[in-house]
Amino acid sequence: MPIDPTLPYDPDNIFARILRGEIPCRKVHEDEFSLAFHDIAPQAPVHILVIPKGAYVSWDDFSSKASDAEIAGFTRAVGKVARDAGLVASGYRLLANTGQHGHQEVPHLHVHIFGGRQLGAMIP
Ligand code: C5P
Repeated sequence: MPIDPTLPYDPDNIFARILRGEIPCRKVHEDEFSLAFHDIAPQAPVHILVIPKGAYVSWDDFSSKASDAEIAGFTRAVGKVARDAGLVASGYRLLANTGQHGHQEVPHLHVHIFGGRQLGAMIP
């Protein structure tokens, strides 16, 4: 069920609970601003989620409210995770589902990294 983007940040959403260590994840990267872990239901041979540590619902929330340091740190983390996963030579896809039309299900910003096989053309 896609989220209602008008609702305030829910501190008990599943990714907030992963950030607090209440729910396990298969972590691949952590730094001051970001956490990355394998998606629990992978849609490609490599399917990693990168999330900011701050309480941001969506890309819209993050891009309008996060500090420059958080935005830079998060952007660098996404690139590093993709590099460390060995995806640069073959290529990969980044995706941030946002709000209802974007079919975002977890109300904490996450960027999907897909790779490890030829991906299909993107169909809206
Ligand atoms: O972008 P969207 O909100 O639709 O995707 C949420 C993603 O979070 C899904 O790919 C789902 O498999 C993943 N997930 C996860 N671990 C959880 C709960 C959801 O990796 N505990």
